[in-house]
Amino acid sequence: MSLIDSHCHLQSFVQKKSLDGVLSKAKSAGVKKLITIGTSIDDWDCYQSLAQSKPNIFYSVGLHPCNVGKDWSKDIEKIPEYWNSVCQPVAFGEIGLDYFHLPKDKNLAEKKVNQQQQCFSRQLQLAKLLDIPTIIHSRNSFEDCVSLIDQSGLDWQKVVFHCFSNGKLQIQKLVDRGGRASFTGNITYAGNGQILDAVRYQGIEKLMLETDSPYLCPEPYRKCKNEPFRVRELLVFLKSLFEEDSQLIENTIYSNTEKFFRLLS
Ligand SMILES: [Zn+2]
Ligand SMILES: [Zn+2]
Repeated sequence: MSLIDSHCHLQSFVQKKSLDGVLSKAKSAGVKKLITIGTSIDDWDCYQSLAQSKPNIFYSVGLHPCNVGKDWSKDIEKIPEYWNSVCQPVAFGEIGLDYFHLPKDKNLAEKKVNQQQQCFSRQLQLAKLLDIPTIIHSRNSFEDCVSLIDQSGLDWQKVVFHCFSNGKLQIQKLVDRGGRASFTGNITYAGNGQILDAVRYQGIEKLMLETDSPYLCPEPYRKCKNEPFRVRELLVFLKSLFEEDSQLIENTIYSNTEKFFRLLS
């Protein structure tokens, strides 16, 4: 099997010194390439040095909406510097809006939403200038994410909504604009009907898979810490949703991901 985990967060494995084992398990499962996704100033350098030392690891840089604090504008000033380095990121992200993890107090929540929107818009401008693939995190905020991307003028062909959790109506809006979605372990959870409709609607032409490790472990291991090798389980699950030849599906997902992120090793 040939697989790419297009979205994982490897920092916790680095910190626990378990990365070598995690990577060799992934290799045995057929995972040829991995993209480790930046979320804050605390992981960008870690991912850059990983990518520098391992030819099959690629990385992205971006400020995750849940990490947007009072210093957000100072944090994101550093982002373009990574594109002037020897080992450049393959994407901007993950960036977006997360209305799920908001403070309970209404005023505080409103403030946080404003802050997230400002930071997201600013990062979209940077992504547009850099003209690179951009990974969107959208939780309970789909419409606002779409309209801020529309306003930014970023090329939708470069946009992927990761861990897509909405339905057909929403994915239609992405596909109509030229964007796409990637899917993770929650496609295997109970009550996943609408996500599966979205998977089928988008079809295999733009399909990409991700584990979002260490989060979102697929069923029946949902309570476990997720690892990149499980992208194989997602592929097996997805193959059952389509009528196309199983090797064709695998090859298409692989080349979609290579092309979208321009993964040159
Ligand atoms: Zn995310
Ligand atoms: Zn993520």
